[in-house]
Amino acid sequence: MPSDPVELTKQIKAASDIVAVVGSYLTIKPVGPVFKALCPFHNDSRPSLDIDPKRQRYKCWACDAHGDAFSFVQHMEKVNFTEARAILAQRAGIKFDETQSPQDHHKTRLLEAMRWAQAHYQRALLDDPIGEAARKYLGGRKLAGKTVRDFGLGFAPIGGDWLMRFVREERIPAETLVEVGLLFARYENRGHLDRFQDRVMFPIHDVRGQTIGFGGRIMPESILLPRAPKYYNSAETPLFSKKDVLYGLNLARHAGAATGYLAVVEGYTDVMMAHQCGVPQVVATMGTALNARHVSQLRRYVPKVVLVYDADAGGYTGVDRALELFVSQDVELAVATLPEGLDPCDLLVLPDGPETFRKILTSAVDALDFKLNRLLEKDGAASIEGKRRVIDEVLGIIAAAPPMPSQTAQVKQELIITRLSHRLGLRQETVWARLGELQREHKQRQLLEAQKTGATPTPNQTPVRRGGNQGGPTPKADPYYIIGATLVRLLSVEPGLVAKAATEIQPEDFEHTGIRRLLSEMYDAWKVGQVPDLDVLRERLADRSDLFEWLVRQSEVGRQMEEREKKLQGEIAAFRRMKEEATQKLLSAKVSSASEEELVELLRRKMGKPSNQDGDNLANGAA
Ligand SMILES: [Zn+2]
Repeated sequence: MPSDPVELTKQIKAASDIVAVVGSYLTIKPVGPVFKALCPFHNDSRPSLDIDPKRQRYKCWACDAHGDAFSFVQHMEKVNFTEARAILAQRAGIKFDETQSPQDHHKTRLLEAMRWAQAHYQRALLDDPIGEAARKYLGGRKLAGKTVRDFGLGFAPIGGDWLMRFVREERIPAETLVEVGLLFARYENRGHLDRFQDRVMFPIHDVRGQTIGFGGRIMPESILLPRAPKYYNSAETPLFSKKDVLYGLNLARHAGAATGYLAVVEGYTDVMMAHQCGVPQVVATMGTALNARHVSQLRRYVPKVVLVYDADAGGYTGVDRALELFVSQDVELAVATLPEGLDPCDLLVLPDGPETFRKILTSAVDALDFKLNRLLEKDGAASIEGKRRVIDEVLGIIAAAPPMPSQTAQVKQELIITRLSHRLGLRQETVWARLGELQREHKQRQLLEAQKTGATPTPNQTPVRRGGNQGGPTPKADPYYIIGATLVRLLSVEPGLVAKAATEIQPEDFEHTGIRRLLSEMYDAWKVGQVPDLDVLRERLADRSDLFEWLVRQSEVGRQMEEREKKLQGEIAAFRRMKEEATQKLLSAKVSSASEEELVELLRRKMGKPSNQDGDNLANGAA
């Protein structure tokens, strides 16, 4: 078996006949030299999908879906390239174990340990007298037996060596269970103890339903309660990162695809109860606020995310964060508010609860309107001052949001500006102008910040309105963007130049997240001895097929370039000049607004002399 992922991909591709792969999902029939099926990617009424065994490709004549066996599985299963490859490998009987990298091998061991532990916890809850109290507790929470089984709940008894006994009897390596956080080692090699005791165990699954971690809730009457936290999670491992996980996504994703949105709540039992009550499009974060990584997972399945907030105090603290995600991510983000004092679980068990909950979800208000409603309630927009405050608060979030690398940013900004001006009764030009000001201020602050911490100053390349003349450069005109894109073009066709580029220009020098990612992947590949050509980069960008496609287009441009090494040297020189200029410009800007003492210090710096005071006063002055 090849250990090289590119070889492996080729082998799996050769073993996956497109007709057999598509045929395992859809009813197909032969028509002349091809096969035909109803297209699963649009609402097809006559067979529009052609499957061509000779070219090993599919194509829909109506919606233009097309590709090979990998992309078909990617779209059907809503998975990334690596996952699709694993599915096809399994289908073709190509043993992944033998081809796994050491990291993959390690992950497999961790997964096995998780599965093993879950089976024991589950048996304790469902079939063992030891789980009686836990069964009563869950029954008291109104969770049905089916729900408890669907979510794989279990129970970890008290005592300290309940799980450890099975570890000994079944000769399971204790170190693995220490690593996943289910056991801990006692001092001086005095054996191991159970980490979870007297707790209901909620297995945490990845989208494919594999157990990657556990959350444990202590029994309400436990004698351990005074000195143990109420909730507790298993360890962070290569499988499980608490801040990335969405609880219940494996069960909610299909329902989400059907309703067009997924709702995000806070607790495990909220998710379980929603499923039980016939509202399955619900997931939970693991005690952290919704972040960009959550959003990109959810975006695989749905265009819209509904955040569910409690109406009580503190419930709205996440709204600014939500608005920031709305602005910076390609997602519709809406906010739903529960009646005061109720969490989803409380609401769902009421008569008509499920219907009410569903209505609350479907009538969620988008994050911008939600924020505006709250501000206008509080501040009012009667006075000029009031309007100013409202507008600054909303635009401030937009100005500070990380740039979005697509057309979507432009569309979103225009939508926001239109809505703001409408609701506040202001002219759109006024709102655009203020956004431009705030973006410039933000940029200045970032530059100062970067300088203070010694990081490279880079302009923020947040796109601003075309022709508006209010802000900085659009990404295409931004010199950093131009240098970054040229670098990508050159290196993608001339991987041998990566070593030289890596000594001069760092991925972190760029604000553009796509360019950053591409350069990091190229440099990393080169560092581990891979030739960073397109095949290798396709592997590494398995989670970002959009970015890979962009790279392919750039490499086509790169192929037209001549004297590539000389061109690279030119880019490096231009880059050095630009960095130097940015620093000088920043210092000059400071000089014009500095106080007398600051002035002395600034001039000292501008002339390249060492400082005799810390940079704090300087940086705070103009911000
Ligand atoms: Zn189609």
